Amino acid sequence: MSNRIVCKFGGSSVADATQFRKIKSILEGNPERKIVVVSAPGKRNSKESKLTDLLYSSYDLAKKRLDFAGPWTLIRERYIEITQELSLQSTIREELDELEKILLNKPDDISADFVASRGEYLCAKIMSEFLGAKFIDAYPLIQFDSQYRITSKSYEDIAFALSDTDSLYVVPGFYGSDTLGNLKTFTRGGSDITGGILANACECRLYENWTDVSGLLMADPRIVQGAHSINYVSYREIRELAYSGASVLHDESIHPCRAKNIPINIKNTNSPGDQGTIIGPTPEHTSCIITGIAGRKDFSMLYIEKSMMNKERGFGRKVLTILEERGVSYELSPCGIDSMNVVVDSKTLHRVKTEVCAEIEQKMQPNKMKIFDNLALIATVGHGMVNQIGTAARLFGALAKEKINVRIIDQGSSEINIIVGVNEEDFEKAIVSIYNEFVG
Ligand code: ASP
Repeated sequence: MSNRIVCKFGGSSVADATQFRKIKSILEGNPERKIVVVSAPGKRNSKESKLTDLLYSSYDLAKKRLDFAGPWTLIRERYIEITQELSLQSTIREELDELEKILLNKPDDISADFVASRGEYLCAKIMSEFLGAKFIDAYPLIQFDSQYRITSKSYEDIAFALSDTDSLYVVPGFYGSDTLGNLKTFTRGGSDITGGILANACECRLYENWTDVSGLLMADPRIVQGAHSINYVSYREIRELAYSGASVLHDESIHPCRAKNIPINIKNTNSPGDQGTIIGPTPEHTSCIITGIAGRKDFSMLYIEKSMMNKERGFGRKVLTILEERGVSYELSPCGIDSMNVVVDSKTLHRVKTEVCAEIEQKMQPNKMKIFDNLALIATVGHGMVNQIGTAARLFGALAKEKINVRIIDQGSSEINIIVGVNEEDFEKAIVSIYNEFVG
C-alpha cells in the first residue's frame, strides 16, 4: 500500500475559479494528495444546470440538426470564465471550437457519451494546467466490460501510467473505454467510480471524496431536523443505506476500495477542516446501535395468493422470471405459506403491469392477485444491532406509538439492516420516530 491519497472533486467543487483555488490549497495542505479526479463543473446556484446536462442537451439538439447555441454558449462561457479568472494560457478555446465544429457538421460521427465526457475532460485539462500537474486521460486507460467491470489489464495499465509517486496527476472522472475501444461513460455521478478505481489500481492509502457537505448524516435532514453526522460507516452499511435512498457517493465506487480495504473519506471542499465521514471495513466494536436510517417512496407490492403454494416447486422462480423478462427487478419478496409478495419500483411495474398480470394469471393460476401502491421502504442500518436483544422491539414500539401501520418487515440474516414498508403518507413520521427512539 502506498501513502498516496486519491482526491476526487465533485461538480460543486469545480464550479468556478474560486473553487479551483480552494482545491489548490487543499492539495497543498497534504503532500500525500497526489492523484486528483475531477467531475465536470456543476451548478453555482439552484437556477443553473450542470455542464454535463448542458452537454447532453447540446448533443441532442445537434443530432436533430437544431440550434444548440443555448446550452452551448453556457458551456463555453463557463470554461472560458474559469481559465480567464485563473489567468491560464490554456488551449480550451481551441478544444471548444473543435467540438462545436463537430456538433455542427458531423454530429453522427460522435456519441452522446463522447460529448458528455468532454465536461470532465476539459475540466481536468484546466485543472492540470492550474496545478502544474500531469494530465492523464481516462480514455482509453480505464477499460471496462458491459457490466462496468474493470479489466485486470486496465488496473495494471493505470498503476503504470500513474506510477511516479512524486508526481501530481489529474485524471478526468466519469468515463473510460469499453472493450471494443469505444469511449463510454459510467452512469451519472460516475466520477466517484473513477476515484475508486484509481485508488485500487495505485494501492492508495485513502480515497478522499470532496463534495459540498461534511459527510453523511444519520437521516435525511429534510425529514429529521438537526440529524447527527456519521463519523464512521462500514462498506456494508453504506451499501445498505445507499441502496435505500441515502446518496452522497455513487454506490459502485465502493467496491474497488472495499476490495483493498481502502477507506473513503467524504470531505467538504468549502469546509476542509471538518472531519467528514469515513467509510471503511467493518469495525470490531461500535457503541452506537444504529448507524443511519434511509428510505424511499414509490414502491408497489404485487401480492399473489394460491392455496398449497408451498408445495408447488418453482412458483417463486417463475413469478420472478416473468418480472425479469419485463425488465422489473425486485427489492424484497416476503412470503407466507400460500402467498407471495414482490416489492418493486412502482413506475417500472406500472409500465408492464398488464402483461405481467396476464402472464402470471395464465402460467401460475393464482386464487388472488392484487397490486398495492404508494408504499415506502425504510432501512434502519447498523452493525451495532447485531446480537443486540430488543432492537426490533424498540423499532416497532416507536412506530406503534405513532400509530404507524407496518405493511412489510424484512430483516436479513446479517442482522445489520431492518427494513420496514409503510404507507407513503407515514414515511416521514416513521423515520422521525425511529430516529428519536435510537438517537434522541
Ligand atoms: N458529470 C457527471 C454527472 O453529472 C459525472 C459526475 O459528476 O460524477 O453525472
